[in-house]
Amino acid sequence: MVHFVGAGPGAPDLITLRGKTYLEQADVIIYAGSLVNPQLLDYAKEGCQVYNSAKMTLEEVLEVMEQAEQAGKVTVRLHTGDPCIYGAIREQMDELDRMGISYDSCPGVSSFCGAAAALNLEYTLPDISQSVIITRMAGRTPVPEKESIESFAAHQATMVIFLSTGMLEELSRRLIEGGYTADTPAAIVYKATWEDEKKFVCTVGTLAQTAKENQITKTALMIIGEAANASHYDRSLLYHPEFTTEFREGKKQKEQ
Ligand code: SAH
Repeated sequence: MVHFVGAGPGAPDLITLRGKTYLEQADVIIYAGSLVNPQLLDYAKEGCQVYNSAKMTLEEVLEVMEQAEQAGKVTVRLHTGDPCIYGAIREQMDELDRMGISYDSCPGVSSFCGAAAALNLEYTLPDISQSVIITRMAGRTPVPEKESIESFAAHQATMVIFLSTGMLEELSRRLIEGGYTADTPAAIVYKATWEDEKKFVCTVGTLAQTAKENQITKTALMIIGEAANASHYDRSLLYHPEFTTEFREGKKQKEQ
């Protein structure tokens, strides 16, 4: 059995209770290199074999899983944040299917949620944006043409950009070409929820400069849109006194 487990964004107490239980039970743990907090490995039982996948190929990871399975062992594949976001899990699962090894997936707190928490942000503010676009710049891994930064920027929805810290000048340029103004609020969160977390509120036009001034070159998320620093927005209907829900009768406000 293989459990894919989301390690959470960094702080070791942000793993789920289920994820922690799996770590405690595991005979083998394969964790995703530098982005998983090594403190989580303290949950491993004595004698657990621990592998850092940063130094391994997919084939090597699968080999470890296969050998563990043949020995009747339980493996945890520990991915940063939530495994479903840039986790490269599908290719592992397909091979496990081929090998007849069963697996399941335990969600984690993604870093885009950790970054919002770092800044006490709500990505989905009424009247500002009701959508969050999670994307990245093309790097060595290409991004499909139809998902260009410009085309997403045209929506003016909240955007959270992964895996792009080294390309911020190009990111700003493309966001502006797509329709954001240079003074649209933006934020950079480095190592959200880790002890050395750093966070900066800036603008679309000052992303590169902000990262440079603060020596941020990796492990960061860029948050784009009015929600990054909202100074005005409509209150929610759900908690409005006049709004009726399944659980609460709305009251007509007296006219003044
Ligand atoms: N599955 C992960 C993302 C893996 S991709 C998740 O759900 O968060 C790796 C990228 O995620 C990094 O390059 C960086 O952009 C981002 N990232 C991961 N952890 C982060 C953190 N604690 N703070 C800011 N960005 C982080």
